[in-house]
Amino acid sequence: MKIVFLGAPGAGKGTQSERLVEKHGIVQLSTGDMLRAAVKAGTPVGLRVKAAMEDGGLVSDEIVIDIISDRIDEPDCANGYILDGFPRTVAQAQALDRILAEKGIKLDAIIELVVDAAAMLARVEKRRADAIAAGKPVRKDDDPEVFKERMVKYREETAPVSDFYDADGRRRTVDGMQPIASVAAQIDAILAA
Ligand code: AMP
Repeated sequence: MKIVFLGAPGAGKGTQSERLVEKHGIVQLSTGDMLRAAVKAGTPVGLRVKAAMEDGGLVSDEIVIDIISDRIDEPDCANGYILDGFPRTVAQAQALDRILAEKGIKLDAIIELVVDAAAMLARVEKRRADAIAAGKPVRKDDDPEVFKERMVKYREETAPVSDFYDADGRRRTVDGMQPIASVAAQIDAILAA
């Protein structure tokens, strides 16, 4: 099963991905997680993306396209995967179509978790408070100012990805404002159809 999850920062893509990973024995491919790991490990890619990530900007299309293209060839992807946080620009979406066509792969679903901006900010603030309460490191991009910048980028660069997939009717939407279990049920209904 191969799924693309779309949705603004804080929409709950990570939460729903984790559930589907368990349920279907697939892997979650979060470009954000991969980039954070690269920054932490101090790899050449990590050094190139660090500033953009900390400022709430997007890293270059070329970098994330290469990361995803290589990653989906790994053996653990054979059973399927969820793309979480990719594609984030129309150029990435076009590249993904091209890469998948070259590899002879067909996506099962492109699903957007739709939530409103105020709710997203509240979720990010909660994630930050929970991390602090648990003594875990706070993600730098969960800072409210950085979050606002991420929302600007989302509106400018990522919202058009929804239109891109709408052009040929591929995008499915779920109401991300519902409780987690209800969002899960909506997603399962799409995947079962
Ligand atoms: P996330 O964990 O998905 O919210 O991603 C955290 C940060 O990583 C984003 O704010 C961007 O700086 C960067 N990032 C993650 N995925 C992408 C992508 N597909 N394109 C560009 N930048 C990305």
